[in-house]
Amino acid sequence: MPQNDATTPGRDLAADTVSVLLPLPVPGPYDYRVPSGMDVEAGAIVRVPLGSREITGVVWGEPTGEVGHNRLKEILEVRDAPPLAEALRAFVSWVARYTVNPEGAVLRMVLRAPGALDPPRPRVAWRATGEEPERMTEARRRVLALLSDGMPRGQSEIANEAGVGTGVVKGLASAGALQEVLLPAHGRSRQPDPETPGPVLSGDQAAAAAELVGAVEKGGFEAFVLEGVTGSGKTEVYFDAIAATLRAGRQALVLLPEIALSAQVLDRFAERFGAPPAMWHSDVPARLRRATWRGVATGEVRVVVGARSALFLPYAELGLIVVDEEHDGSFKQDDGVCYHARDMAVVRASLEDIPIVLSSATPSLETLVNIDRGRYRALVLASRHGGASMPQVEAIDMTRAGTERGRWLSPTLVAALTETLQAGEQSLLFLNRRGYAPLTLCRKCGHRFACPNCTAWLVEHRHLGRLQCHHCGLSIAPPQSCPSCAAEESLVACGPGVERLAEEVAARFPEARCEIMASDTMLGPQAAADLIGRVEAHEIDILIGTQVAAKGHHFPMLTVVGVIDADLGLDGGDPRAMERTWQLLHQVSGRAGRADRPGKVYLQTYEPRHPVMEALVSGDRERFLEREKAERERAAMPPYGRLAGIVVSGADEGEVRRLANALARRAPRGDGIETFGPAPAPLSLLRGRFRWRLLVKARRDVNIQAVLRSWLDPVKITGSLRIQIDVDPLSFL
Ligand code: ADP
Ligand code: ZN
Repeated sequence: MPQNDATTPGRDLAADTVSVLLPLPVPGPYDYRVPSGMDVEAGAIVRVPLGSREITGVVWGEPTGEVGHNRLKEILEVRDAPPLAEALRAFVSWVARYTVNPEGAVLRMVLRAPGALDPPRPRVAWRATGEEPERMTEARRRVLALLSDGMPRGQSEIANEAGVGTGVVKGLASAGALQEVLLPAHGRSRQPDPETPGPVLSGDQAAAAAELVGAVEKGGFEAFVLEGVTGSGKTEVYFDAIAATLRAGRQALVLLPEIALSAQVLDRFAERFGAPPAMWHSDVPARLRRATWRGVATGEVRVVVGARSALFLPYAELGLIVVDEEHDGSFKQDDGVCYHARDMAVVRASLEDIPIVLSSATPSLETLVNIDRGRYRALVLASRHGGASMPQVEAIDMTRAGTERGRWLSPTLVAALTETLQAGEQSLLFLNRRGYAPLTLCRKCGHRFACPNCTAWLVEHRHLGRLQCHHCGLSIAPPQSCPSCAAEESLVACGPGVERLAEEVAARFPEARCEIMASDTMLGPQAAADLIGRVEAHEIDILIGTQVAAKGHHFPMLTVVGVIDADLGLDGGDPRAMERTWQLLHQVSGRAGRADRPGKVYLQTYEPRHPVMEALVSGDRERFLEREKAERERAAMPPYGRLAGIVVSGADEGEVRRLANALARRAPRGDGIETFGPAPAPLSLLRGRFRWRLLVKARRDVNIQAVLRSWLDPVKITGSLRIQIDVDPLSFL
């Protein structure tokens, strides 16, 4: 097998038998015989037979000895890829143990770039033979002119650059003027250059950057929290740490919430380092994922910017991890292997023995408590770059605002929007609800339109002319008559979504240029970048946005933010509801007032005395957080206690209930541990599956994983039933 000097060579295994971990949810690795003449080391990626299938797994270590030697099957082949380094194998085991999953289920997340292990297919390219085609056209001339430099190019590249159809290439080939050549799968792409200078950093930026650069140069694990309001220069600071990582000859990983992986990030990175990073998220096409996976493993890819799954890539020589917007809930995966990418990133950094930076304007309570406990070190950027001040926040008491029926803007907010328009400035109206209306009902009989597969109302999307379920994607045309009482034209929309709000804005401000910014109105990163560009260019006066508009965009002319329903995230039994609402509204507020223009934020609320509203209005963040910490500590909630959510689901409601009850009878209870439930989950039906929940709550010193294993491992489940374990749950639905 090819030796790759970028990886730590695994130790040679002496025996002719090894254990191989397969990317399957089975209890542990299986033993295989090593055919004579084959060289395998721990971590080697191998193909092995399993029943009638062939499957790719990883040599895990010494044999388990569970199956007699003479009945063992042989390893078929060592795949052409560097072996998984010891730190990554240790990480797989760690995540499996912590999340209470089989190691194979975690390994699957590492090996999940199908085709990355196949030998890269060569690219077909074309070069000019020097022969003139019999018939010459303008298009043909352009192609031959392009290729006259002797450099072979792919068909679509030629078509693009010469501005012709691909048919012209084919035509020239059959006329003998072009000849096919095979190129290596991917040429060496441009590498980020750490020597490109960044901006001159201000005092506290420079101090923070120096700490990080020092930690990168020294190597070794250390966790930093980079804290500062949006626009304080956190990105510039961690860019310096990335530059130091590249200079040290190591790779860097930047984890971002999926939502933030826009073209803006790419541009900004490319501007600083002269080349874009490798991107890793759900929209990256398979071909690129394969190349990135390989490039990461061989060390050719130097910087990855990705969503949470980028944490499981096989870095050859990782030197730094950055988790940007570390408080963001989208780092938590809550199906399959339930893990929190921020927390697991800290684990990976410690196993790789490298520094990690958690960056946020509003660090999570978990992270703040880790600073208090001395486990993470805080680096604080005090102010916005350029000295812009934080906006002034005002709560509008909706119980006495006098808003008209079927309208959502209070007179105070309308006045503020009017003034802003007249001043030639921009406003943002924030409403975290996609679509036209969250509920549709029949005026005659009261029938409500619910999803048949989920415990959820169907949301009207008027521009699409559909009623949709935001959980399972079900989409139906609104019926002409009520399906319950057959009344004609009796359906009414209840409550506002961004589309309905846009309708009100258009009616009130017909002269204003207004646009919606929501995940379903911008299809793809390009559309998002276009819209952001138009806001920046002041082609939009009033932006109406969901949480995608809350993130750190820089809109210099945006001076007013109106939050339509500030109470929206506060109901429900989620212990983090207050923290999250505060974070979100604080972030949204940060959109107002950039550079030299002070901003103003209006919170429409039915509870102006609520601690979250008071904290936002007073700007007294410390008091709010101290109060939150005290509350959580009193209730022994995370991070002062541990939680694990158990969801039993299945196609048959009775079976689900019986299993949940059976689990509850044997549930862990005793010193420092209690179990609540079972009860139907708030989302008691999801994608056609019934769901019941149990919640285990334990003191911090209890080994909750051991408790869960001894409780749930012996349970045999059959048919469509499933038990999902979620350690440190963020969602309680
Ligand atoms: P954050 O990540 O904290 O939101 P950024 O790093 O994105 O902040 O900085 C906000 C803006 O200010 C960016 O356009 C950035 O390039 C600029 N900026 C920050 N620090 C400096 C500096 N020291 N000199 C020049 N521009 C800076
Ligand atoms: Zn549904």
